[in-house]
Amino acid sequence: MPESTPLTTLIKGGWIVAFDGERHRILRDGVVVYRGDTVTHVGKSYEGPVDHTIDARAQLVSPGLVNAHVHVGAHTGDRMIFDAGRADLFRSGFMNYCASKGINGPTLHDFEDADVAIRYSLSCLLRFGSTTIVEMGGELGGESGNGELGPLASHAGELGIRIYMAPGMRSAHHYYDQDGRHQIHWHADDGLATLDRALAFVERYDGAYEGRVRAILVPLEYHLSSHELLRRTKSAARQYGIGITLHLAESVLEFQDSIRHTGRTPVGMLHDLDFLGPEVVLGHGLYTSGHSQVAYTRGDDLALLAGTGTSVAHSPTVFARRGVYLESFQRYLDAGVNLAIGTDSYPQDMLGELKTVALMGKIADRDFEAVNTRDVFNAATLGGARALGRDDLGRLAPGAKADILIVDFQRARVGPFLDPIKALIQCCDGEVIDTVIVAGRTRVEEGRVLMWDSEELLEGVRRSCANAWDRFADYWPDNEPIDAVFPGAFESWEE
Ligand SMILES: [Zn+2]
Repeated sequence: MPESTPLTTLIKGGWIVAFDGERHRILRDGVVVYRGDTVTHVGKSYEGPVDHTIDARAQLVSPGLVNAHVHVGAHTGDRMIFDAGRADLFRSGFMNYCASKGINGPTLHDFEDADVAIRYSLSCLLRFGSTTIVEMGGELGGESGNGELGPLASHAGELGIRIYMAPGMRSAHHYYDQDGRHQIHWHADDGLATLDRALAFVERYDGAYEGRVRAILVPLEYHLSSHELLRRTKSAARQYGIGITLHLAESVLEFQDSIRHTGRTPVGMLHDLDFLGPEVVLGHGLYTSGHSQVAYTRGDDLALLAGTGTSVAHSPTVFARRGVYLESFQRYLDAGVNLAIGTDSYPQDMLGELKTVALMGKIADRDFEAVNTRDVFNAATLGGARALGRDDLGRLAPGAKADILIVDFQRARVGPFLDPIKALIQCCDGEVIDTVIVAGRTRVEEGRVLMWDSEELLEGVRRSCANAWDRFADYWPDNEPIDAVFPGAFESWEE
């Protein structure tokens, strides 16, 4: 048989999350068959010839999860801020470490080894169930200005994960001034050079690695984007037929600046700019009109999102760490907003994130019937696929991509269960995933990423972060030591 002939694989599953053309159903003791990178059959049995069989009769077979909001990296900063940080940022976490020291100074990330951080993060994403990710345009690893394929795309391509990305764009950046106050510095060119750089990437690399690397335009933040940059981004996305994602309504400061400078909420301003639409994925979209922390009730932001078909990528864990939550998952859903799920920073555990989605959603509404398990699973699969305009992801059905998770249901933590999806979300995290298949190729087996040495990556990324934390005092406004600003749970015992 010539090597180029695609092989046929059959998975015998105990519980298969099968898509019937409209919705997910649970298929007990069935089969999933894929040929090359595409699913060809889902049903009770299969009589045709197969080259390979995977016995998953005691396991759950699920479509791979679509992670709609990710910052690939080690997250040196996020790992500091639990229980601590600046009070003047109104609970925002990322501004504690993303702002540069002075207009041209370093950020905390500048002290890291970007290459190992990228590979560590990508391997966690894949290992814990994300088969498709949307990267939020991070500069980590420095996508080259001349349109070269940067380390992020090439590592993702080599690992086998699907990635939507492009170098991030911005008209401004956050910095701490000499008095240690947060400021925003607007760039002379309005950030238009960053759009040129992103489009060079789009032209050269959209569809690279057998279509697993796809382009999406990423104005990093609404807060840092001029209206001109947003207008040009929208028109470029239309011209190239690609999507857009950006952080929006993610901090109280951003919401207040938007009202004070434009008289419009962040969502309302994007609507006025004719920017919203089905190709747009808003990262977080948390502070909308009526949110209890913004003291602003005018307008109906959710109606604007739903009416334009705009998606929201919801990442509750990072906000829960700051005492903040979406108000609410159920309210957005009821308004008709397409919801997707993302892990944002750490841990990059998409399966684990789903429990937080479910619990925070119930707490937000103080209603045990809010946020049905079905809606959580749908958001992590069909919702993410819809956000990316893909009807071949997030489902197991003939014609869909063979992106598949096999979850080990023989674990004590799974226990007895009445419903496998409730067990998956309430009892599990990404550690229970045994096998991850992307585009018909097995990339994780028996819980191990096949491409890279995970122990080596862990050692490397710990060394990289330790270096950044050692340099913390050089970065922080008053050169305070890290232990004073972000103290550990207990004092160290030095003899
Ligand atoms: Zn983010």
